[in-house]
Amino acid sequence: MNTPDFTLLNEAGLNLQAIFNIDTLPAKMKADIRQRFDTEQRYRQLILIGHGGKAMWTAMKAAGVAAEHPIDQFSIAITERWLGGLRHAIVYPAETSVGLQALGKLAGWHHASPFMVGINETWGSWYAYRVVVLTDSDFVPTPPQVTTSPCTACLDQPCLAACPAGALNGGFDLQKCIAYRKTPTSRCKATCVARITCPVASDHRYSDEQIAHTYSISMRMIERYYD
Ligand code: SF4
Ligand code: SF4
Repeated sequence: MNTPDFTLLNEAGLNLQAIFNIDTLPAKMKADIRQRFDTEQRYRQLILIGHGGKAMWTAMKAAGVAAEHPIDQFSIAITERWLGGLRHAIVYPAETSVGLQALGKLAGWHHASPFMVGINETWGSWYAYRVVVLTDSDFVPTPPQVTTSPCTACLDQPCLAACPAGALNGGFDLQKCIAYRKTPTSRCKATCVARITCPVASDHRYSDEQIAHTYSISMRMIERYYD
């Protein structure tokens, strides 16, 4: 087994990596991956790659990526450069995708937050999944991670009161969130006020430009599909 060198990924801000042997994934997940992406069982491992904090955005801007989906394009390009000649299949980002949060839980990255974005002690909610790739590799698998949600110890829960739609009281109310975001005077056209109120790992909060980029995409989806 080889110990992977993640330097190239880390330098591009793709600083979260988890390696799984496909055969040791939970049975349902393994069956789903084999059936949808690897019926011939050509691949041995699944590699989950994410970014935490601001570094990926900075590296992507420095690279001058011009594309409709610049983060996806940048992340795939760096991942494929890192893989070198290794046989692989990118399964995310793609039209038919995998259960990212389930993989994130296995990696110890994901806990549910009230505003439905993953959260953990290290990065707060300021991390995301960038690439899932099946590989013909023989890397040392990442040990299973067990972590605690920062929300468990958050007594005040300031994110709940910060949501201007009141969409987080008694569980996340997607319809309330969407209805509010569509209003002309919405404060959430290009951000989530609740998310930026959360104090956990706030030093890793994305730049305003990156936050606006992310939430403008979801706003466009809302305008297209929730008229
Ligand atoms: S403010 Fe508290 S409850 Fe809300 S997401 Fe942050 S840690 Fe969790
Ligand atoms: S986007 Fe705005 S309305 Fe929706 S959960 Fe976040 S703060 Fe609330």
